[in-house]
Amino acid sequence: MKEIRCIVCRTLFDHKELKNNNGCPICGYQGPTMLTKGDINININWFELRLICAWSESMVLNIGDEHSKNAFYGVIKAIKDQLPNSEPITIFDQTPIINDTVPDGTLFN
Ligand SMILES: [Zn+2]
Repeated sequence: MKEIRCIVCRTLFDHKELKNNNGCPICGYQGPTMLTKGDINININWFELRLICAWSESMVLNIGDEHSKNAFYGVIKAIKDQLPNSEPITIFDQTPIINDTVPDGTLFN
C-alpha cells in the first residue's frame, strides 16, 4: 500500500520508493509530504470553503516561498478535482507547474 502522498503533484509512494530521494522523484518538491492515513472527509458549505481558500491564497502569495505556493496550489487542485463543476475556489486560481527537470523543486512560475 502506498501511504505517502506528495503535496504538490499528489503522487503516491511507499516508504521504499522515497528512500534515498531528496524530495519527490516526480516533481522535485522537497517540502513535507503527507500520510494518506490522514485523509478525512468533512462537510462544509461551499462559500465557507471558498473563504478559507481565498484567505489562504492571499497569505501564501504575500509571504510564502515558491515551495509554499506549489504546495498550496497542489492542495487547491486536489479540491478542484473533487468539485469539477464548481466555480473557482481561489481568487487567482493558479495551477502548480509540475516539471521533473527542475531538481530544486522550484515548480511555480
Ligand atoms: Zn511531487
